[in-house]
Amino acid sequence: MEKDYQRVWDECLSFIKDNLAGKENEKAFNTWFEPIVPVNLEGSKLTIQVPSQFFYEWLEQNFAELLKNAIRLTLGPNACLQYSIVMDTSISNYPITTSIPSTGKQNIINRPTSVPGQSQSGNEFPNPFVIPGIQKVRIPSNLSSSYTLHNYVEGECNRLARAAGYAVAENPGKTAFNPLMLHGGVGLGKTHLANAIGLKTKEIHPEKTVLYVTSEQFMQQYMDAGRNNTTSDFVHFYEMIDVLIVDDIQFWANKAVRTQEAFFHIFNTLHQAGKQIIITSDKSPSELQGLETRLTSRLKWGLAAELLPPDVETRMNILRQKLANDGVEMPNEVIEYIAYNINTNVREMEGALVSLMAQSSLNHKEITIDLARQMVDKFVKSTNREVTIDYIQKVVCDYFNIPIDSIQSRTRKREIVQARQLTMYFAKKMTKSSLAIIGYQCGNKDHATVLHACKTVANLAETDKQFRYWIDELEKKFKE
Ligand code: ADP
Ligand code: MG
Repeated sequence: MEKDYQRVWDECLSFIKDNLAGKENEKAFNTWFEPIVPVNLEGSKLTIQVPSQFFYEWLEQNFAELLKNAIRLTLGPNACLQYSIVMDTSISNYPITTSIPSTGKQNIINRPTSVPGQSQSGNEFPNPFVIPGIQKVRIPSNLSSSYTLHNYVEGECNRLARAAGYAVAENPGKTAFNPLMLHGGVGLGKTHLANAIGLKTKEIHPEKTVLYVTSEQFMQQYMDAGRNNTTSDFVHFYEMIDVLIVDDIQFWANKAVRTQEAFFHIFNTLHQAGKQIIITSDKSPSELQGLETRLTSRLKWGLAAELLPPDVETRMNILRQKLANDGVEMPNEVIEYIAYNINTNVREMEGALVSLMAQSSLNHKEITIDLARQMVDKFVKSTNREVTIDYIQKVVCDYFNIPIDSIQSRTRKREIVQARQLTMYFAKKMTKSSLAIIGYQCGNKDHATVLHACKTVANLAETDKQFRYWIDELEKKFKE
């Protein structure tokens, strides 16, 4: 007599129950096997219904061997298992794709907008141990292919973060940098670097599951899961990840308390399992106000690497690289102009560059300093626009035709000393920088030296015609 599917499944279940190892076995059984409903049996092919896509993946990842043994024992060596998945709209936020290499097809699950929990037949997934070559489910990483380590320009400002990121990509979860926390101001390259580390990890370890999410997406998914009673699916989904990247975690500050809690638990599970966590934030762990203390204290476990505003050399390299990437050429003086005038934010600098390229190609205008000046003015809000000390150094050195790094040098040559003093004088006059900062940037001098320089220049302006002329000429240059 042919066995009916319920009886077959009951036999499988009792085998599974007997064979689940570990102290957690009862819980695992209740969580992962009780909800399964047998729905059909054709010959030696048993079809079981599982509550969600996620559920299917979890079974395949964790219990494939056990299921295989159970079903072969009850239905013989040719036994075959098929899944029928109840489509669950709450899953629609999870970026899940199932790949079935043996058929060469990528099978993306339809995401119905219909009533949650609606059952759809026809979503049957062949069982991997029956059709040879089928792999476990892959989760798309949500990474952008354009933010790579290769095009992340290295400079003093990001050296530590970049090196730590590389180490993490080589050995995810196995370095002391876990979590790796990248922090720094807006537009300084946190997202780019975090994404690049994810890509590198996948390149070196194709078998690892890497996932990038913004903290906002994470929160949204968590809230949806709560609404749809699928919070445990949500948690299990995240616990499957080998390298989890959460971008802009400061977004949770002073809100999202329960999201933070959920993340805290996921964090602990992943960390204990030796999985890698990468976080970005606009503040360091100790400065992050409004986040749960136990969460911020976890963030201090690994490495907090700060991204600083790039120096002018790095800014020029970033611009050159971007131009090379887009196959555009631009006069060097234009690149310098942009790099010298936008000094806080790489994104703003890129914005100016892009609109400069657009302007020139749309209006068939040549890219000139003047065009650059208009763009920079447009891009950098006049309120936070301040002439930089870098820029003053450059104008002064160009005027006297001396190399710019001579300002930094220890030389006492007269012309250099004069140029340095003029730079300090203008920096005091035209920027809000303190004497200490000006000194620091002009060859590591102390504030008394800067004060002395300012007085000297002011005196010479009164008494020395030549000096007066230089100051007037330089002032004109700054106004240009
Ligand atoms: P954040 O996330 O810190 O606000 P992003 O990562 O979005 O900043 O970076 C802003 C822009 O600047 C991006 O287009 C990024 O590619 C670029 N950028 C930042 N730092 C670098 C760098 N070191 N090399 C190349 N591009 C960079
Ligand atoms: Mg960002």
